[in-house]
Amino acid sequence: MLSPICPHDRHALSENESGLSCAECGRQYPIQDGVVCTLDHPDDFYEGAYENQTRFLPRSEKPWHAWPLWLINGGYPWTVRHFVPPGATVVELGCAGGVRYFGQRYHMVGCDLSFLSLKKMEFYERRIQADAAACIPLPDNSVDAVVSSYFWEHIPPSLKPHILQESRRILRPGGKIVFLYDVETENPLIRRYKYNNHPLYNKLFIEGDGHLGYQRPLENLALFEEAGFRVVKHQGMEKTWLQSPSAYTKLAQFGTVGNRLFAWASRLGQQPFFYPYTAFMRLVDTLICPWLPADWARMDLVVCKKEDE
Ligand SMILES: [Zn+2]
Repeated sequence: MLSPICPHDRHALSENESGLSCAECGRQYPIQDGVVCTLDHPDDFYEGAYENQTRFLPRSEKPWHAWPLWLINGGYPWTVRHFVPPGATVVELGCAGGVRYFGQRYHMVGCDLSFLSLKKMEFYERRIQADAAACIPLPDNSVDAVVSSYFWEHIPPSLKPHILQESRRILRPGGKIVFLYDVETENPLIRRYKYNNHPLYNKLFIEGDGHLGYQRPLENLALFEEAGFRVVKHQGMEKTWLQSPSAYTKLAQFGTVGNRLFAWASRLGQQPFFYPYTAFMRLVDTLICPWLPADWARMDLVVCKKEDE
C-alpha cells in the first residue's frame, strides 16, 4: 500500500498507533475510519456534498460483460480501463464515493476534501483527505495514472497548473491522466440561454455547483501541454441539443416558451427512460460529436501521457 507524504514538506511519514507522523515538521495526521486526514479544517463547501458512487461491477472482463462501463458516467470507467492496465496504481482526485470497478482492478488511492465521502469507500486501498490544489500527498514517481471525473471544473484556473505539476511529480514516466470534466460551452442550445440571461446561467451552471474552473476545451488542453503532458485523446461530448437530463432541469428554470419541454425532458433521467436515453446519447457522443466543433461540447474526456523529461 502506497504511503502518503507530508503535504507541508513532502517528507515520508511514519505510522504509529494514532496515525501518521512527520519527523521533519512534527505534524500528526490521524487515521479515522481508514481515512488519512491531512486537512487542518474541514472544507465547508465540499464536506459531505458529493457522495455519489459508481457501483457497477462486471461479471468478467469479457466485452459482453464489461460494456456497461462504456455506457455509464460518459464512458469514463471504460476509458480508464482502456488506457490503464490491471494491477496499476491509480489516484482518483475528487473521488467522492468512488468507482467500485476501479477498486477491483487497480491499487486505488482516493483523494478528496470530504471525509464523509471517503469514509464509505473501503474498496479503495488508500483514502486520503487532502487538498490536491495544495499538494497531492504521495511520493515522486509512485503512480501509473491520475484520474478524475467532474473534478477539474471545480478548480479555479489559477490553481490548475499547480495540480498538473503535482500530478506530473507523482506519475511514473509514461504515466497517464484521464480526466472527465465540464467545459465553458458554445453549445447551440445552451448559448441561447447563456447570452439571454447571463446572471441566471452563472447561478445555475456555475455558482450552484462550485464550477469555478469552467474553461473552453482548447484552453484546458493547452494547460495539459504546458505542464509537460501530451494529449493522447480528447472527446468532446453533448455537443448537440441532446443533453444530460440535469442540464434540461437547469434550462427549465429560464422561464421561456421552452420550459415545459425542458421540464418534460428532465424526466429522461428517470426510469424507464434513463438507460435507453443514456445509450442513445452515448451513441451520438461517439458517432456524431467528433464531427462537430470542439467549442460546442459541454464536457470533455481527456487522456494525457507524461512526456519524458
Ligand atoms: Zn512535515
